[in-house]
Order: sequence, then structure tokens, then C-alpha cells
Amino acid sequence: MAGDALREGPMRFDIVTIFPAMVAGGLTEGVVARGIGRGAVDVRIWDLREQTTDRHRSVDDVPYGGGPGMVMTPQPWVRAVEAIRVERGEPGAVVLMSPQGRLFTQAEAVRLRGLSPVVLLCGRYEGVDERVREMVGAEELSVGDFVVSGGELPALLVVDAVSRLVPGVVGDSGSVEEDSFTRGLLDYPHYTRPAEFEGRRVPDVLLSGHHEEVRKWRRRAALARTLERRPELVDAAGLDDEERAWLREMRTARAQKT
Ligand code: SAH
Repeated sequence: MAGDALREGPMRFDIVTIFPAMVAGGLTEGVVARGIGRGAVDVRIWDLREQTTDRHRSVDDVPYGGGPGMVMTPQPWVRAVEAIRVERGEPGAVVLMSPQGRLFTQAEAVRLRGLSPVVLLCGRYEGVDERVREMVGAEELSVGDFVVSGGELPALLVVDAVSRLVPGVVGDSGSVEEDSFTRGLLDYPHYTRPAEFEGRRVPDVLLSGHHEEVRKWRRRAALARTLERRPELVDAAGLDDEERAWLREMRTARAQKT
């Protein structure tokens, strides 16, 4: 599997930030670190401050029109993306992390997986001067309807979600195929030993050793769970005939309860 990734070349990311150590720190453990170690993922971190041309190496300034906070000045951003183009080649996507962007979803992760090298720009303060987006041809992506203080954690989320899709990064690729959202449904419930814990038993079918029954139980449980927690996902999911029959059953049962 790692061989596949190496033949295709690694999934490459270039991350621009004023806090390189914060980004690096998020890449030292776990699945993504292993992907980097195996050469399946390649992350280069660019210190925005090194792209400044003024004596004070400043990256922010007061907002035109007044108001609170500081705005990130355009010059170092444009220079950073230019340096990335020269050194690393034409990016498949330049992404400005922003709460105003399109929502980052599993489908977006799959899309970015095909666009290596991907440049991720991490804003700070009140955000980045509006002209930067157009000048560097950036799209904006948001990791959710909330505001955090910088684009570093959002960028790390993107790197993690996309890297999981690269062959050889997650140890057992089957686990990625069964993850929540991969099929458009939430994942099924997971259990491990012991079979009984403080009076609570694992569902019998999972102990039965009947692989076909286990598979069926899991597909049904995933569907039931998605219907209960995220009904809007069910309509968009690609269900097979059996799942559609279960769905009708579940909906009838729910209708009778209320
Ligand atoms: N004033 C801005 C928020 C700035 S937060 C606004 O209301 O839109 C500072 C930086 O954090 C942003 O430039 C962005 O890079 C990052 N950021 C904050 N929340 C984010 C989110 N939900 N998704 C992606 N990036 C986010």
C-alpha cells in the first residue's frame, strides 16, 4: 500500500502561517506523522514572516475604515504563494482557511486528495486583506460555523482528513472505507472486549462469528443511527435495495411511535 503512494508521489501540502511551530506540533504524532514518515504525505511549513520585505517584518496593520483589531497585510501572502509556485510547482488548489468559506466536508477532502500540491493559508487577527484571495487565486474553506483565532488548527484538520485518504497512511485501508461519511452514512457502533462490562453486553450477533450476519447488522445499525442523528444525510446517501427496505421499515416504526 505504501508502495502505491510512493509510485503516485506523496500527497503534498504547503502551509503558510505566522506560527510554524504550532503547525509542526500537530504533525508529530499518530496517523499523519506515520504518513509523513513513510513518504506518503509531504508537508512543508512556510513562515509568513520570512516573506516580509520591511525592516520590522510586519504581517499586520490597522483596518481601513477603522474598527477593532488588525488585518493581515497582503504583501507577504502574495510573495509566499509566489515562492511556493517557484519552488514546489503549480499548486492544484490554494486554500484560504476562513469561517466564511465553503464548509469542509468528507467530499471536499476527497476532492483535495486529487489536487496535490495543496497550499493552505492560515489567517490570524481579523483575517487577511480581501485582495489576497483574488491575487493568489485562493478558494476559502471553513471547518465549521464557529470562529477560532487562527487558520492553523483548521489547516491541520484538512491535512489529517485528506491524508487518511492516501494509500498507506491509515494502517488498515478498510477502516477508512467504513468511516462515517465515506458512504454518506455515519459509522456503525464499535465494541471491543470484554463481552460484558458492568452488566452491559455486546450485541450477540457480533460474537456469533457469522460474518454475513455481522455485516448486515452493521449496515442496518449505521442506517438506523444516521436516520436518528442526521436524517438529512440519509436522503443523499447511495442506499442499496435492502437498505431502502430497512429505511421504509424504520420510518414506519418511527411514525407509529409519534
Ligand atoms: N473576522 C473573521 C475571523 C477571523 S479569525 C471573520 O469573522 O470572518 C482569524 C483566522 O482564523 C481567519 O482568518 C481564518 O484563517 C481562521 N479561522 C477562524 N475560524 C475558522 C473556521 N471556522 N474555519 C477555517 N478557518 C478559520
